[in-house]
Amino acid sequence: MEIERHEYDVVVIGAGGAGLRAAIEARQQGKRTAIVCKSLFGKAHTVMAEGGAAAAMGNVNSADNWMVHFRDTMRGGKFLNNWRMAELHAKEAPDRVWELEAWGALFDRTKDGKISQRNFGGHEYPRLAHVGDRTGLELIRTLQQRVVALQQEDEKLHGDAEAYIKVFQECTVTRLLKDGDAISGAFGYWRENGRLILFDAPAVVLATGGIGKSYVVTSNSWEYTGDGHALALLAGAKLINMEFIQFHPTGMVWPPSVRGILVTESVRGDGGVLKNSEGKRFMFDYIPEVFKDKYATTEEEGDRWYTDQANNRRPPELLPRDEVARAINSEVKAGRGSPQGGVYLDVSTRLPAAEIIRRLPSMHHQFKELADVDITKEAMQVGPTCHYIMGGVEVDADTGAADVPGLFAAGEVSGGMHGSNRLGGNSLSDLLVFGRRAGAGAASYVDGLAARPKISQDSVDAAKAEALAPLERGGENPYEVHQELQRTMNELVGIIRKAEEVTEALEAVGKLKERAQGVGAPGSRIYNPGWHLSLDLRNMLLVSECVAKAALIRQESRGGHTRDDFPGMSAEWRRKLLVCGLSPDGSGVTVEEKVQPSMREDLITLFDRDELKKYITQEELADFDALVK
Ligand code: FAD
Repeated sequence: MEIERHEYDVVVIGAGGAGLRAAIEARQQGKRTAIVCKSLFGKAHTVMAEGGAAAAMGNVNSADNWMVHFRDTMRGGKFLNNWRMAELHAKEAPDRVWELEAWGALFDRTKDGKISQRNFGGHEYPRLAHVGDRTGLELIRTLQQRVVALQQEDEKLHGDAEAYIKVFQECTVTRLLKDGDAISGAFGYWRENGRLILFDAPAVVLATGGIGKSYVVTSNSWEYTGDGHALALLAGAKLINMEFIQFHPTGMVWPPSVRGILVTESVRGDGGVLKNSEGKRFMFDYIPEVFKDKYATTEEEGDRWYTDQANNRRPPELLPRDEVARAINSEVKAGRGSPQGGVYLDVSTRLPAAEIIRRLPSMHHQFKELADVDITKEAMQVGPTCHYIMGGVEVDADTGAADVPGLFAAGEVSGGMHGSNRLGGNSLSDLLVFGRRAGAGAASYVDGLAARPKISQDSVDAAKAEALAPLERGGENPYEVHQELQRTMNELVGIIRKAEEVTEALEAVGKLKERAQGVGAPGSRIYNPGWHLSLDLRNMLLVSECVAKAALIRQESRGGHTRDDFPGMSAEWRRKLLVCGLSPDGSGVTVEEKVQPSMREDLITLFDRDELKKYITQEELADFDALVK
């Protein structure tokens, strides 16, 4: 059977915020660019983002600036972040938001006409640029509009709108191809008709998002099967921080068919409070030592903060997500949960109904339609849901380059920026900042190539055989393997972990990997979802193995990794990254420890000694003392 073949300079896999921003940049730098996405164009995960994009523009509180944002991000990530990424992100996010505005984004406004910014957990000042609670939709709409504008330019210049930027939608990439060490292209199939497709390109930008579909309860949609993570690993790149998974504190818990769907943090940012079955605002009991001086200790002070932030501390409902998720988990375990196993999130007694509908239109609609709950009249029931992976492809902060020549990554598929826990709103700005950088990195890599890598027939034949295998065998139903994997990860490598359970999970994943070799979806190639899932399983299993192996090795609790058997945070562990690679025989995952470089002097001195000593080793503290002496 013929394989459709296309030649590009840069292939961007993924059409969410990171992919679109990368593609725009590569095209603006004169590169022939393909955007490939397995969902419909416009239906990337980014569309679902509700709360906003964090950028220290200082529109609502002029005390905000990149240094405060940098500090908040490092604190949120419990100092494990790649500090260079956190620095670039904090410095460049405002420009990326203003650029979006120049490209047509219609953000909500302050009274004096500036882009409005809202409060979110872990951000010291109101910082999230937003469009009601539909910010991701506006971000994608604007970036798509920009792609179309560039295509219109190309139509005028070259007589062909797709001469320099073309979208391949509903097209799944299953393998990256290499010539020696370097990337030479990507291989995949059209979901609609099952035809095979080959991209000949020296640079690939991965922007495939996260891995949530390895868990039962998740806010993520069907395309989050860890494809980019696995493609990178299989191509020889490294993944870091895979043990850190963000369980968003507030997902819907009822009815079962919608369990896990996100309830935006904006509900709490705009005044919503968490209560247990006794009616108590329990978050006051869960302020951890490291945040003690930054959060209100009484309800009165917390409430005053909404109108007077200069003289009051923020309420603990706005602690970073990992803290809130663990607190909810503890309340439910202690028997103080709601009837359906969550806790109550109440905005109905905090804001007038009209204001709730104005500020949180999607939430109002979501609860009315899906749960028959009117959030202007009653509390929601919420509980933790697998939401975001902090871990991903290890990249160079400035260029997005992975350690395979020609491979770049940006957005949720990359690792490092968010450390052990991402602050809400920091993903949308991450996509824009590092999407742009990865697009530029790929373009300049192509400029510097002496010769274009070649695609070998052998690598195409192998990719083709792998892709078609599930169609040719009548094995086990892939849905059964998937469901078992989801249960395993949810129950054994979930929000609270212990060595025996993670070991049990690893054994289970090993067996599931064997079973996955035999899954089959015989029949037509035309929209055969069983076939698609059979191929996605390889990715979810590889990624789950990374998560479980790293979770077993890290003997401390930090951010999105809580070990029941190692409850404390260790300064020694903070310095270490766990780096996952493919085993030499390609059958599994290896994990190595790597020490992080120390923070640059001008950045570490942005923090007080008292705060640093909660996170860094004695040796690092001595270096700090010598520095500031
Ligand atoms: P995505 O937007 O998910 O795009 C991934 C793309 O890759 C898709 O086009 C997909 O089709 C494609 N793809 C995947 N695999 C393949 C493959 N094998 N071949 C071809 N294409 C492939 N963050 C914030 O900062 N603020 C918020 O308010 C916020 N709200 C959120 C609300 C919800 C409900 C969720 C789930 C997340 C939210 N987040 C928020 C997180 C944020 O939305 C995501 O982290 C971010 O959108 C990821 O963007 P991305 O560009 O990396 O990937």
